[in-house]
Amino acid sequence: MTELPETGTPAIRVAISSCLLGEEVRYDGGHKHNGYITGTLARYFEMIPFCPEVAIGLGVPRPPIRLMNKGGEVRVVGVDDPALDVTDGLVAYGQTVAGRLNDVSGYIFKRGSPSCGMERVRIYPEKGMPVDSGAGLYAQTLMRALPLLPENFIERVFVYHRWQSLCQSEPAPADLIDFHTEHKFSILAHDETAYRELGRLVAEAGSGDLRQLLERYAALLMTAMKKRATRKLHSNVLTHIMGFLKDRIDSGDKAELLDVIEKYRQGQIPLIVPVTLLRHHLRRNPAPYIERQYYLNPHPEELMLRNSL
Ligand code: SF4
Repeated sequence: MTELPETGTPAIRVAISSCLLGEEVRYDGGHKHNGYITGTLARYFEMIPFCPEVAIGLGVPRPPIRLMNKGGEVRVVGVDDPALDVTDGLVAYGQTVAGRLNDVSGYIFKRGSPSCGMERVRIYPEKGMPVDSGAGLYAQTLMRALPLLPENFIERVFVYHRWQSLCQSEPAPADLIDFHTEHKFSILAHDETAYRELGRLVAEAGSGDLRQLLERYAALLMTAMKKRATRKLHSNVLTHIMGFLKDRIDSGDKAELLDVIEKYRQGQIPLIVPVTLLRHHLRRNPAPYIERQYYLNPHPEELMLRNSL
């Protein structure tokens, strides 16, 4: 297992479209090197590259392909020669790869590709310009086979990795309760309804089939984490956390916190500012329940890699 050079902890394994790492595997012999991925993310993740088009034997260079709606069915065909149809090969390869991703916690897909694109890939009619869009067929196959596997979102990769680690340890009901307790605010920032539903599920731990409960919990958790965490939802969570401090900090500190949360809500400052201020107050006024939350104490890398919300 690869270790992170800086911390010596095992690296989280993430699959990725090869061309994003700079591998010259595109149809024209080029790549789509992404400096953020190879410069920043690669310090925290072990990248496992896949190029489905090369893997199914299309070679480099190769004729370009695109999605086409053929009689109501989306196929992947040659741009210049629609008789070239590689749909079945890409789907079969996607199924093979899906079987090899058990220890992988996420997938970074190249945008816009008829093979690797996750969404909004142009679908051409048999004649004329595209009017529709969808997922590349290799990516779609993987997403259907592994519906919980996070694609392209850092926070979900970390949550899913922690979930995988929990499941590998043959968890007892108390472990599920701990996991849930530690992720409550993270879930709340994404989906309030799911947050309540997950709470109800966890309350059932200890009675009934735990394996089945874990499956239901995982499906609901990862669907909730897929929802966009808005500034409004984050602001609610931050205000909620502030509630735990209200009797312990003075009116000046309270006013400052409210002001910082409001500035964040209005988009004037990034999330890290109110989070850091809350952590500062929590250090001086310990509240064990809050301190266990990954929301305030994410994996250091997770914090650095959080999006700008
Ligand atoms: S098939 Fe995927 S990995 Fe290969 S070049 Fe296209 S986008 Fe990149």
